[in-house]
Amino acid sequence: MAFGACDWPDQTEYLHGEAPRNVILFIGDGMGAEQAKAASIDRFGSDGGLGFQEFPVVGYVETRSADSAVTDSAAAATAMATGFRVGNGVISLSVPGDRSRLLTILEYLQRYGKSTGLVSTKFITDATPAAFGAHQSSRSMTDRIALDYLERSRPDLLLGGGGYGIGDRIASANGYTVVADAAELDAVPDDARMVSGQFGSGAMPFEYDGLGDLPTLSVMVAKAIAILSSDPDGFFLMVEGGLIDTACHSNDLARAVREVQGFDDAVSIATAWAIGRTDTLIIVVADHETGGLDGASGTFSTTGHTSADVPVYAWGEGADRFGGTVENRDIPCLILDMPVD
Ligand SMILES: [Zn+2]
Repeated sequence: MAFGACDWPDQTEYLHGEAPRNVILFIGDGMGAEQAKAASIDRFGSDGGLGFQEFPVVGYVETRSADSAVTDSAAAATAMATGFRVGNGVISLSVPGDRSRLLTILEYLQRYGKSTGLVSTKFITDATPAAFGAHQSSRSMTDRIALDYLERSRPDLLLGGGGYGIGDRIASANGYTVVADAAELDAVPDDARMVSGQFGSGAMPFEYDGLGDLPTLSVMVAKAIAILSSDPDGFFLMVEGGLIDTACHSNDLARAVREVQGFDDAVSIATAWAIGRTDTLIIVVADHETGGLDGASGTFSTTGHTSADVPVYAWGEGADRFGGTVENRDIPCLILDMPVD
């Protein structure tokens, strides 16, 4: 079966290729190079100090969608999840095209027995996580996106804001254990599966404003890795720093910077776990840039998304495949070590 930019590896290719056993894909929504620069200058006094900025491989990603030079998060995440460019707003369906479901890398890796998880600081049915576990013609169809998760793709972990189609009752009815705050998440045993963390209703609070009894992104990632890594077959985990985009739409530098720093803290949790391993690939990428930020001056030039290329930082098994400039739809091919057209 074809990806847009390559072929899904068949079983022989997969088992004998160089696909890493564990994949942790971090997506900073709206996080271009200038957002990282601003966050580094704020914390360290100069650019290049964030943990992911020091990853051994740095490349660039072209971000356009099928119908626009300026992508939205649905089309961008679909490209990175499926290898296909789709129209803005579309969640992993072939649109434009025959409207068929596009296999996602999460669904593909489930076939090899891997545990899977989606983590976001937005509500968990928002566009970026949705593209990995749902298939709908519009990102606004969050009720259907929730049902795609709960009844079809069934990731082992869904951690993020609640509401927008996902709720205690429907998750429980589909066999998920629901946790609602940091203490309940902490109490989940590491061998648990089918956990729905519904932390508030809607997007989670900005780290700048404090999370109260809700878990930070770092806390969610630490728990996700503890749970998923108990699977001897390995795991796929997608983590979205979703509020970087929200803050940049408001041209709110203080909150954007703090979100990038919290995102970097979460990446560092993953890197610390993976140090010494030779079977794990960690990727940090963005779906698009938001705000037209100049990181040195801290000035924004728009309240929308831009067409700027975004950096991709890679660490671990197969990281060297991410140097140079790639297209967003190449990402799953590169993760699975398949040649890109
Ligand atoms: Zn946005």
